[in-house]
Amino acid sequence: MGLFINSRYGFILKNLLKSNLKKEIYLKKYCYSTIQKQKEELTPLARQLKNLISEKGSISIATYMKHVSTNPNSGYYMKGDVFGAKGDFITSPEISQMFGELIGIWLISQWEIQGKPQKTQLIELGPGRGTLMEDMLRTMSNFPNFYNTLSGIHLIEISPELSKLQFKRLNEFCENDAENTSYKFYWHNTINDILDGWSLIVAHEFFDALPIHRFKLTDKGWREYMIDIDTSVDSPYHFRLILSPDPTKESITLTSSPQYSKFNIGDCIEISSDSWNITQKISNQISKFGGAALIIDYGQDYIQDNTLRAIRDHKFVHSLSLPGHADLSVNVDFSYLKESTQGKVNTFGPVKQSKFLHSMGITTRLSMLLNQTTSVEQHKILFNSYKRLVDPLTMGRIYKMLAINPKNIDQIPYGFESLK
Ligand code: SAH
Repeated sequence: MGLFINSRYGFILKNLLKSNLKKEIYLKKYCYSTIQKQKEELTPLARQLKNLISEKGSISIATYMKHVSTNPNSGYYMKGDVFGAKGDFITSPEISQMFGELIGIWLISQWEIQGKPQKTQLIELGPGRGTLMEDMLRTMSNFPNFYNTLSGIHLIEISPELSKLQFKRLNEFCENDAENTSYKFYWHNTINDILDGWSLIVAHEFFDALPIHRFKLTDKGWREYMIDIDTSVDSPYHFRLILSPDPTKESITLTSSPQYSKFNIGDCIEISSDSWNITQKISNQISKFGGAALIIDYGQDYIQDNTLRAIRDHKFVHSLSLPGHADLSVNVDFSYLKESTQGKVNTFGPVKQSKFLHSMGITTRLSMLLNQTTSVEQHKILFNSYKRLVDPLTMGRIYKMLAINPKNIDQIPYGFESLK
Protein backbone atom coordinates (compact mmCIF):
# COMPACT_ATOMS: atom_id res chain seq x y z
CA MET A 1 0.00 0.00 0.00
CA GLY A 2 3.03 2.22 0.59
CA LEU A 3 2.39 5.68 -0.71
CA PHE A 4 -1.34 5.35 -0.72
CA ILE A 5 -2.15 4.53 2.85
CA ASN A 6 -1.11 7.86 4.21
CA SER A 7 -4.18 10.00 3.78
CA ARG A 8 -7.70 9.24 4.92
CA TYR A 9 -8.65 9.10 1.28
CA GLY A 10 -5.47 7.41 0.13
CA PHE A 11 -6.75 3.90 0.30
CA ILE A 12 -9.63 4.75 -2.00
CA LEU A 13 -7.26 6.42 -4.42
CA LYS A 14 -5.42 3.20 -4.90
CA ASN A 15 -8.67 1.72 -6.10
CA LEU A 16 -9.50 4.75 -8.16
CA LEU A 17 -6.51 4.05 -10.35
CA LYS A 18 -8.05 0.74 -11.28
CA SER A 19 -10.88 0.72 -13.73
CA ASN A 20 -13.67 -0.94 -11.79
CA LEU A 21 -13.84 1.46 -8.86
CA LYS A 22 -17.32 0.65 -7.61
CA LYS A 23 -16.74 -3.07 -7.54
CA GLU A 24 -13.38 -2.67 -5.77
CA ILE A 25 -14.85 -0.47 -3.06
CA TYR A 26 -17.86 -2.70 -2.69
CA LEU A 27 -15.65 -5.74 -2.23
CA LYS A 28 -13.50 -3.99 0.35
CA LYS A 29 -16.46 -2.59 2.27
CA TYR A 30 -18.85 -5.47 2.39
CA CYS A 31 -17.19 -8.78 1.67
CA TYR A 32 -15.26 -9.42 4.85
CA SER A 33 -17.82 -11.92 6.08
CA THR A 34 -16.60 -14.53 3.64
CA ILE A 35 -13.21 -14.54 5.37
CA GLN A 36 -14.16 -14.04 9.01
CA LYS A 37 -17.05 -16.10 10.40
CA GLN A 38 -17.01 -15.69 14.20
CA LYS A 39 -18.76 -12.66 15.71
CA GLU A 40 -16.16 -10.02 16.45
CA GLU A 41 -15.56 -8.63 19.93
CA LEU A 42 -18.46 -6.66 21.39
CA THR A 43 -17.02 -3.20 22.11
CA PRO A 44 -18.59 -1.18 24.99
CA LEU A 45 -20.19 1.06 22.37
CA ALA A 46 -21.52 -1.93 20.39
CA ARG A 47 -23.13 -3.18 23.62
CA GLN A 48 -24.69 0.24 24.22
CA LEU A 49 -25.99 0.42 20.64
CA LYS A 50 -27.43 -3.09 20.86
CA ASN A 51 -29.31 -2.10 24.04
CA LEU A 52 -30.56 1.06 22.35
CA ILE A 53 -31.83 -0.85 19.30
CA SER A 54 -33.40 -3.62 21.44
CA GLU A 55 -35.29 -0.98 23.40
CA LYS A 56 -36.28 1.49 20.70
CA GLY A 57 -35.96 -0.33 17.37
CA SER A 58 -33.54 0.22 14.50
CA ILE A 59 -31.58 3.50 14.37
CA SER A 60 -30.67 5.75 11.42
CA ILE A 61 -27.15 5.69 9.98
CA ALA A 62 -26.86 9.27 11.29
CA THR A 63 -27.57 8.15 14.87
CA TYR A 64 -25.11 5.29 14.48
CA MET A 65 -22.41 7.63 13.11
CA LYS A 66 -23.01 10.19 15.84
CA HIS A 67 -22.46 7.53 18.51
CA VAL A 68 -19.45 5.99 16.81
CA SER A 69 -17.69 9.35 16.37
CA THR A 70 -18.73 11.40 19.37
CA ASN A 71 -20.43 9.26 22.04
CA PRO A 72 -19.14 10.80 25.31
CA ASN A 73 -18.04 7.43 26.75
CA SER A 74 -16.51 5.58 23.87
CA GLY A 75 -16.86 7.58 20.63
CA TYR A 76 -13.91 7.41 18.27
CA TYR A 77 -12.75 11.03 18.65
CA MET A 78 -13.21 10.97 22.43
CA LYS A 79 -10.09 8.85 22.93
CA GLY A 80 -7.77 11.67 21.80
CA ASP A 81 -4.97 11.58 19.27
CA VAL A 82 -6.03 9.35 16.36
CA PHE A 83 -3.87 11.07 13.72
CA GLY A 84 -0.49 10.49 12.12
CA ALA A 85 1.61 7.43 11.38
CA LYS A 86 0.80 5.87 14.78
CA GLY A 87 -2.89 6.73 14.53
CA ASP A 88 -5.44 5.78 11.90
CA PHE A 89 -4.94 8.46 9.23
CA ILE A 90 -2.97 11.58 8.36
CA THR A 91 -4.31 14.92 7.12
CA SER A 92 -2.89 17.78 4.99
CA PRO A 93 -1.91 20.10 7.89
CA GLU A 94 0.04 17.18 9.37
CA ILE A 95 1.83 16.60 6.07
CA SER A 96 3.33 20.08 5.76
CA GLN A 97 3.35 23.48 7.46
CA MET A 98 2.92 25.02 3.98
CA PHE A 99 -0.74 23.99 4.01
CA GLY A 100 -1.69 25.98 7.14
CA GLU A 101 0.53 28.89 6.13
CA LEU A 102 -1.24 29.36 2.80
CA ILE A 103 -4.68 29.03 4.40
CA GLY A 104 -3.61 31.72 6.88
CA ILE A 105 -2.58 34.01 4.00
CA TRP A 106 -5.87 33.37 2.21
CA LEU A 107 -7.81 34.41 5.32
CA ILE A 108 -5.75 37.60 5.66
CA SER A 109 -6.44 38.35 1.98
CA GLN A 110 -10.18 38.23 2.76
CA TRP A 111 -9.63 40.67 5.62
CA GLU A 112 -7.87 43.05 3.22
CA ILE A 113 -10.51 42.70 0.50
CA GLN A 114 -13.24 43.43 3.05
CA GLY A 115 -11.76 46.77 4.16
CA LYS A 116 -9.49 45.64 7.06
CA PRO A 117 -12.03 45.60 9.90
CA GLN A 118 -10.63 46.62 13.29
CA LYS A 119 -11.98 43.68 15.29
CA THR A 120 -11.94 40.10 14.02
CA GLN A 121 -12.18 36.55 15.29
CA LEU A 122 -10.77 33.29 13.96
CA ILE A 123 -12.85 30.12 14.17
CA GLU A 124 -11.83 26.55 13.36
CA LEU A 125 -14.22 23.62 13.26
CA GLY A 126 -12.75 20.25 14.25
CA PRO A 127 -9.13 21.33 14.87
CA GLY A 128 -7.75 17.79 15.47
CA ARG A 129 -4.24 18.14 16.90
CA GLY A 130 -4.26 21.95 16.52
CA THR A 131 -1.60 21.86 13.81
CA LEU A 132 -3.53 23.91 11.24
CA MET A 133 -4.35 26.56 13.85
CA GLU A 134 -0.72 26.70 14.96
CA ASP A 135 0.55 27.16 11.39
CA MET A 136 -2.11 29.78 10.65
CA LEU A 137 -1.38 31.79 13.81
CA ARG A 138 2.39 31.68 13.31
CA THR A 139 1.89 33.01 9.77
CA MET A 140 -0.64 35.62 10.84
CA SER A 141 1.69 36.92 13.56
CA ASN A 142 3.96 38.13 10.73
CA PHE A 143 1.19 40.50 9.65
CA PRO A 144 0.74 42.71 12.75
CA ASN A 145 -1.85 44.97 11.12
CA PHE A 146 -4.14 41.98 10.86
CA TYR A 147 -2.91 40.03 13.89
CA ASN A 148 -3.65 42.90 16.27
CA THR A 149 -7.29 42.94 15.20
CA LEU A 150 -7.85 39.38 16.48
CA SER A 151 -10.07 39.44 19.55
CA GLY A 152 -10.80 35.74 19.86
CA ILE A 153 -9.64 32.34 18.63
CA HIS A 154 -12.55 29.91 18.75
CA LEU A 155 -12.01 26.17 18.48
CA ILE A 156 -15.12 24.10 17.87
CA GLU A 157 -14.22 20.70 19.26
CA ILE A 158 -16.48 18.05 20.72
CA SER A 159 -13.72 15.85 22.14
CA PRO A 160 -12.36 16.87 25.58
CA GLU A 161 -9.20 14.84 24.93
CA LEU A 162 -8.52 16.58 21.60
CA SER A 163 -9.30 19.96 23.20
CA LYS A 164 -6.54 19.24 25.76
CA LEU A 165 -4.16 18.31 22.96
CA GLN A 166 -5.00 21.54 21.09
CA PHE A 167 -4.46 23.59 24.24
CA LYS A 168 -1.02 22.02 24.70
CA ARG A 169 -0.16 22.51 21.04
CA LEU A 170 -1.21 26.16 21.08
CA ASN A 171 0.38 26.83 24.45
CA GLU A 172 2.78 29.40 23.03
CA PHE A 173 -0.13 31.41 21.65
CA CYS A 174 -2.31 30.86 24.72
CA GLU A 175 0.51 32.37 26.82
CA ASN A 176 0.67 35.30 24.41
CA ASP A 177 -3.00 35.63 25.02
CA ALA A 178 -2.22 36.61 28.63
CA GLU A 179 0.71 38.84 27.72
CA ASN A 180 0.91 41.00 24.66
CA THR A 181 -1.88 40.09 22.29
CA SER A 182 -5.42 41.24 22.24
CA TYR A 183 -7.08 37.87 21.69
CA LYS A 184 -8.38 35.14 23.96
CA PHE A 185 -8.85 31.41 23.27
CA TYR A 186 -12.26 29.79 23.53
CA TRP A 187 -13.23 26.14 23.16
CA HIS A 188 -16.85 25.31 22.24
CA ASN A 189 -18.72 22.06 21.63
CA THR A 190 -20.76 23.55 18.83
CA ILE A 191 -20.59 26.42 16.36
CA ASN A 192 -23.89 27.69 17.79
CA ASP A 193 -21.89 29.06 20.74
CA ILE A 194 -19.62 31.39 18.76
CA LEU A 195 -19.78 35.11 19.42
CA ASP A 196 -21.26 37.74 17.11
CA GLY A 197 -18.70 39.60 15.00
CA TRP A 198 -16.59 39.69 11.85
CA SER A 199 -15.26 36.12 11.51
CA LEU A 200 -12.75 34.06 9.56
CA ILE A 201 -13.88 30.44 9.63
CA VAL A 202 -11.98 27.30 8.60
CA ALA A 203 -13.10 23.68 8.50
CA HIS A 204 -10.61 21.08 7.33
CA GLU A 205 -11.80 17.45 7.19
CA PHE A 206 -14.66 18.34 9.51
CA PHE A 207 -17.73 17.92 7.28
CA ASP A 208 -16.75 14.41 6.19
CA ALA A 209 -17.05 13.32 9.85
CA LEU A 210 -20.64 14.56 10.16
CA PRO A 211 -23.51 12.05 10.13
CA ILE A 212 -25.55 11.29 7.03
CA HIS A 213 -28.96 9.76 6.37
CA ARG A 214 -29.24 7.35 3.46
CA PHE A 215 -32.41 6.90 1.42
CA LYS A 216 -33.64 4.64 -1.38
CA LEU A 217 -36.42 5.56 -3.78
CA THR A 218 -38.95 2.71 -3.80
CA ASP A 219 -42.29 2.42 -5.60
CA LYS A 220 -43.83 3.66 -2.34
CA GLY A 221 -41.55 6.72 -2.10
CA TRP A 222 -38.24 7.44 -0.30
CA ARG A 223 -37.37 4.95 2.43
CA GLU A 224 -34.48 5.26 4.91
CA TYR A 225 -31.66 2.77 5.47
CA MET A 226 -31.46 1.89 9.17
CA ILE A 227 -29.05 -0.04 11.38
CA ASP A 228 -30.40 -3.12 13.08
CA ILE A 229 -28.89 -5.90 15.21
CA ASP A 230 -27.42 -8.78 13.20
CA THR A 231 -27.89 -12.07 15.00
CA SER A 232 -27.09 -14.27 12.00
CA VAL A 233 -24.23 -16.78 12.32
CA ASP A 234 -22.73 -16.04 8.90
CA SER A 235 -21.80 -12.40 9.62
CA PRO A 236 -19.01 -11.43 12.02
CA TYR A 237 -20.65 -8.05 12.70
CA HIS A 238 -23.22 -7.24 15.36
CA PHE A 239 -25.13 -4.85 13.11
CA ARG A 240 -26.62 -4.82 9.63
CA LEU A 241 -28.26 -2.38 7.25
CA ILE A 242 -31.99 -2.73 6.61
CA LEU A 243 -34.42 -0.63 4.60
CA SER A 244 -37.20 0.81 6.73
CA PRO A 245 -40.54 -0.46 5.38
CA ASP A 246 -42.27 2.75 6.51
CA PRO A 247 -41.31 6.38 6.00
CA THR A 248 -39.19 7.93 8.78
CA LYS A 249 -39.36 11.57 9.86
CA GLU A 250 -36.16 12.23 7.87
CA SER A 251 -37.22 10.30 4.76
CA ILE A 252 -40.16 12.70 4.60
CA THR A 253 -38.56 16.01 5.58
CA LEU A 254 -35.12 15.71 3.97
CA THR A 255 -36.39 14.59 0.56
CA SER A 256 -39.30 17.02 0.25
CA SER A 257 -37.56 19.49 -2.11
CA PRO A 258 -38.61 19.18 -5.82
CA GLN A 259 -35.02 18.30 -6.80
CA TYR A 260 -35.53 14.82 -5.29
CA SER A 261 -38.29 14.04 -7.77
CA LYS A 262 -35.76 13.60 -10.61
CA PHE A 263 -34.53 10.25 -9.27
CA ASN A 264 -35.55 6.81 -10.52
CA ILE A 265 -36.88 3.94 -8.48
CA GLY A 266 -33.93 2.06 -7.01
CA ASP A 267 -31.72 5.16 -6.71
CA CYS A 268 -30.05 5.79 -3.35
CA ILE A 269 -28.77 9.08 -1.93
CA GLU A 270 -26.98 10.38 1.17
CA ILE A 271 -28.02 13.60 2.90
CA SER A 272 -26.32 15.25 5.88
CA SER A 273 -28.74 17.50 7.74
CA ASP A 274 -26.02 18.37 10.28
CA SER A 275 -23.85 19.71 7.44
CA TRP A 276 -26.79 21.80 6.23
CA ASN A 277 -27.34 23.30 9.70
CA ILE A 278 -23.67 24.10 10.26
CA THR A 279 -23.15 25.74 6.84
CA GLN A 280 -26.33 27.70 7.39
CA LYS A 281 -24.96 28.97 10.71
CA ILE A 282 -21.67 29.91 8.99
CA SER A 283 -23.47 31.81 6.23
CA ASN A 284 -25.77 33.59 8.70
CA GLN A 285 -22.72 34.73 10.66
CA ILE A 286 -20.98 35.98 7.51
CA SER A 287 -24.00 37.69 6.01
CA LYS A 288 -24.79 39.45 9.30
CA PHE A 289 -21.34 40.47 10.51
CA GLY A 290 -19.00 39.99 7.51
CA GLY A 291 -16.02 37.67 7.19
CA ALA A 292 -15.16 34.59 5.16
CA ALA A 293 -15.11 30.82 5.41
CA LEU A 294 -12.96 28.17 3.79
CA ILE A 295 -14.29 24.61 3.83
CA ILE A 296 -11.78 21.96 2.77
CA ASP A 297 -12.74 18.34 2.37
CA TYR A 298 -13.05 15.43 0.02
CA GLY A 299 -16.25 15.03 -1.90
CA GLN A 300 -18.09 16.16 -5.00
CA ASP A 301 -20.23 19.05 -6.17
CA TYR A 302 -23.29 16.79 -6.38
CA ILE A 303 -25.32 14.33 -4.33
CA GLN A 304 -23.72 10.92 -3.85
CA ASP A 305 -24.46 7.48 -2.50
CA ASN A 306 -22.77 4.73 -0.55
CA THR A 307 -19.70 6.71 0.48
CA LEU A 308 -19.66 5.72 4.18
CA ARG A 309 -16.36 4.11 5.07
CA ALA A 310 -14.44 3.15 8.17
CA ILE A 311 -10.68 3.42 8.51
CA ARG A 312 -8.58 1.85 11.22
CA ASP A 313 -4.81 1.77 11.31
CA HIS A 314 -4.58 3.25 7.76
CA LYS A 315 -6.76 0.50 6.30
CA PHE A 316 -10.39 0.20 5.27
CA VAL A 317 -12.48 -1.96 7.56
CA HIS A 318 -16.18 -2.78 7.30
CA SER A 319 -18.18 0.31 8.26
CA LEU A 320 -20.11 -1.58 10.96
CA SER A 321 -17.02 -3.24 12.45
CA LEU A 322 -15.97 -2.56 16.08
CA PRO A 323 -17.93 0.68 16.55
CA GLY A 324 -15.83 3.35 18.26
CA HIS A 325 -12.55 1.76 17.12
CA ALA A 326 -12.49 3.14 13.57
CA ASP A 327 -12.89 6.54 11.94
CA LEU A 328 -16.16 6.86 10.03
CA SER A 329 -16.32 9.34 7.18
CA VAL A 330 -18.31 10.16 4.05
CA ASN A 331 -17.84 12.20 0.89
CA VAL A 332 -19.03 15.78 1.29
CA ASP A 333 -21.76 17.03 -1.07
CA PHE A 334 -20.55 20.60 -1.74
CA SER A 335 -23.66 21.42 -3.78
CA TYR A 336 -25.77 20.75 -0.67
CA LEU A 337 -23.55 22.99 1.48
CA LYS A 338 -23.95 25.79 -1.09
CA GLU A 339 -27.70 25.28 -1.24
CA SER A 340 -27.94 25.58 2.56
CA THR A 341 -26.60 29.16 2.38
CA GLN A 342 -29.87 30.05 0.58
CA GLY A 343 -28.29 32.89 -1.40
CA LYS A 344 -27.42 34.92 1.71
CA VAL A 345 -23.70 34.91 0.86
CA ASN A 346 -21.37 34.42 -2.12
CA THR A 347 -20.00 30.92 -2.58
CA PHE A 348 -17.01 29.97 -4.75
CA GLY A 349 -15.88 26.53 -5.84
CA PRO A 350 -15.28 23.86 -4.94
CA VAL A 351 -11.81 24.02 -6.53
CA LYS A 352 -9.25 21.26 -6.38
CA GLN A 353 -6.63 21.52 -3.64
CA SER A 354 -3.82 21.46 -6.17
CA LYS A 355 -5.22 24.45 -8.04
CA PHE A 356 -5.88 26.39 -4.86
CA LEU A 357 -2.44 25.76 -3.34
CA HIS A 358 -0.66 26.63 -6.60
CA SER A 359 -2.63 29.88 -6.98
CA MET A 360 -1.77 30.73 -3.38
CA GLY A 361 1.95 30.34 -4.18
CA ILE A 362 2.91 26.97 -2.73
CA THR A 363 5.90 26.65 -5.09
CA THR A 364 7.28 30.03 -3.94
CA ARG A 365 6.87 28.99 -0.31
CA LEU A 366 8.51 25.65 -1.09
CA SER A 367 11.58 27.34 -2.59
CA MET A 368 11.84 29.66 0.43
CA LEU A 369 11.84 26.66 2.75
CA LEU A 370 14.29 24.76 0.53
CA ASN A 371 16.65 27.75 0.66
CA GLN A 372 16.55 27.78 4.46
CA THR A 373 18.27 24.40 4.75
CA THR A 374 21.19 22.64 3.10
CA SER A 375 20.19 19.23 4.45
CA VAL A 376 19.54 16.82 1.58
CA GLU A 377 17.20 14.87 3.85
CA GLN A 378 15.17 18.02 4.63
CA HIS A 379 15.00 18.89 0.93
CA LYS A 380 13.62 15.46 0.22
CA ILE A 381 10.99 15.75 2.99
CA LEU A 382 9.91 19.21 1.84
CA PHE A 383 9.66 18.24 -1.77
CA ASN A 384 7.78 15.00 -1.05
CA SER A 385 5.27 16.76 1.19
CA TYR A 386 4.65 19.35 -1.55
CA LYS A 387 4.14 16.52 -4.05
CA ARG A 388 1.67 14.77 -1.78
CA LEU A 389 -0.45 17.85 -1.17
CA VAL A 390 -0.79 18.70 -4.87
CA ASP A 391 -0.55 15.27 -6.49
CA PRO A 392 -3.02 15.37 -9.41
CA LEU A 393 -3.86 11.69 -8.92
CA THR A 394 -4.38 11.80 -5.18
CA MET A 395 -4.77 14.59 -2.60
CA GLY A 396 -4.42 17.46 -5.08
CA ARG A 397 -7.50 16.34 -6.95
CA ILE A 398 -9.72 14.68 -4.39
CA TYR A 399 -9.56 17.39 -1.72
CA LYS A 400 -11.46 20.55 -2.60
CA MET A 401 -11.93 24.07 -1.29
CA LEU A 402 -15.23 25.93 -0.99
CA ALA A 403 -15.15 29.65 -0.12
CA ILE A 404 -17.90 31.80 1.37
CA ASN A 405 -17.93 35.58 1.72
CA PRO A 406 -20.51 38.40 1.99
CA LYS A 407 -22.82 39.31 -0.87
CA ASN A 408 -21.48 42.87 -1.15
CA ILE A 409 -17.93 41.76 -2.01
CA ASP A 410 -17.27 41.77 -5.76
CA GLN A 411 -13.71 40.49 -5.92
CA ILE A 412 -13.25 36.79 -6.59
CA PRO A 413 -11.22 35.24 -3.74
CA TYR A 414 -7.62 34.26 -4.49
CA GLY A 415 -7.38 30.64 -5.53
CA PHE A 416 -10.84 30.68 -7.13
CA GLU A 417 -10.11 33.07 -10.04
CA SER A 418 -10.57 30.73 -13.00
CA LEU A 419 -14.14 30.04 -11.94
CA LYS A 420 -15.53 33.29 -13.30
N1 SAH B 1 -9.03 19.33 11.07
C1 SAH B 1 -8.16 18.31 11.62
C2 SAH B 1 -8.91 17.10 12.22
C3 SAH B 1 -9.91 16.41 11.32
S1 SAH B 1 -10.72 15.06 12.16
C4 SAH B 1 -7.17 17.87 10.56
O1 SAH B 1 -7.45 18.04 9.39
O2 SAH B 1 -6.14 17.32 10.91
C5 SAH B 1 -12.26 15.73 12.66
C6 SAH B 1 -12.20 16.70 13.84
O3 SAH B 1 -13.53 17.18 14.08
C7 SAH B 1 -11.72 16.14 15.16
O4 SAH B 1 -11.05 17.15 15.87
C8 SAH B 1 -13.03 15.75 15.84
O5 SAH B 1 -12.93 15.59 17.23
C9 SAH B 1 -13.91 16.92 15.45
N2 SAH B 1 -15.35 16.63 15.42
C10 SAH B 1 -15.96 15.58 14.83
N3 SAH B 1 -17.30 15.69 14.95
C11 SAH B 1 -17.53 16.85 15.61
C12 SAH B 1 -18.72 17.53 16.01
N4 SAH B 1 -19.91 17.04 15.76
N5 SAH B 1 -18.58 18.72 16.64
C13 SAH B 1 -17.35 19.25 16.90
N6 SAH B 1 -16.19 18.63 16.55
C14 SAH B 1 -16.28 17.45 15.91
